Amino acid sequence: MSAQIIDGVKLAEKIRTRVKEEVVIWVADGHTAPGLATVLVGENPASQSYVRSKQKACGEAGIQSFGFNLPATSSQEEVEALVRQLNADPKVNGILVQLPLPAGFDEERVLREINIEKDVDGFHPINIGRLAQKGREPLFIPCTPYGCMVLLEEAGVKLSGAKAVVLGRSNIVGMPVALLLVRADATVTICHSRTKDLPAVVREADVLVAAIGKPEMVRGDWVKPGAVVIDVGINHVDDASRPRGYRLVGDVAYDEVKEVASWITPVPGGVGPMTIAMLLQNTLRAAKMAAK
Ligand code: NAP
Repeated sequence: MSAQIIDGVKLAEKIRTRVKEEVVIWVADGHTAPGLATVLVGENPASQSYVRSKQKACGEAGIQSFGFNLPATSSQEEVEALVRQLNADPKVNGILVQLPLPAGFDEERVLREINIEKDVDGFHPINIGRLAQKGREPLFIPCTPYGCMVLLEEAGVKLSGAKAVVLGRSNIVGMPVALLLVRADATVTICHSRTKDLPAVVREADVLVAAIGKPEMVRGDWVKPGAVVIDVGINHVDDASRPRGYRLVGDVAYDEVKEVASWITPVPGGVGPMTIAMLLQNTLRAAKMAAK
């Protein structure tokens, strides 16, 4: 039987509509519209496109966005000075430094400069540290991992006691997803490029989150029948039949895996749209926190 699809487009739309409605009420109550500052260093086309999408989504939700584009030749100190300036600006409730920064920048130092109450991307070392510690609460949860958890919740997946396997251990996806799954009482295995016999490890999973950036690497016979599969991967593969000459695929061979899994997220239309929805939600939360 074919898996049920967890529709990220529909869920993200629901969250964005709710944020928009809450912003209307917030402004009607006499507050300034929430504000998100985006900091883009250099001219990486993918990063430019992500930042544009985030700014557009802010506009649609009634959130102000302030875009700051710095050349790749900027110094570390210039980027950090901009972050400090945004920390001090009351119109700015959230600061998003688009990652990755160009080679040569010390990413952690830049992220450390962000006031944690404006860290809507959740990557400040204190927020990540709290995520990793029992009984501590981060002020913000990183948007893509947060989106994965909301998708699992939408599908009604029982995580407590479930065996979860996370493919990938990056700072922005794999590791924070794994930490969130642990917080949800799943038993978590984290896999990476040195993991031995990956298919056998994946086959143990009741819940699989794939974030490795390898097109369609997870095959149908890697997946336990009835498993829930969240595919974070966004990979371009050549496709001469498409107007752009490529199509997007996930880290999971969708057509095969959907015949085995109980629930699955498509690519595109799964985790991708959730990232922006969670960013808007975090920005509204930051504005409300700042007003307290
Ligand atoms: P990344 O920083 O390149 O990390 C990839 C991870 O996968 C690393 O931990 C790496 O292991 C592991 N890995 C790579 N090849 C592997 C293999 N053959 N077998 C097992 N593990 C392997 O990537 P990322 O930034 O986490 O992104 C992962 C994917 O998610 C990409 O396709 C990206 O485009 C997508 N993404 C989507 C969103 C969204 O909004 N939907 C957001 C962010 C990223 P090592 O640690 O050993 O190197």
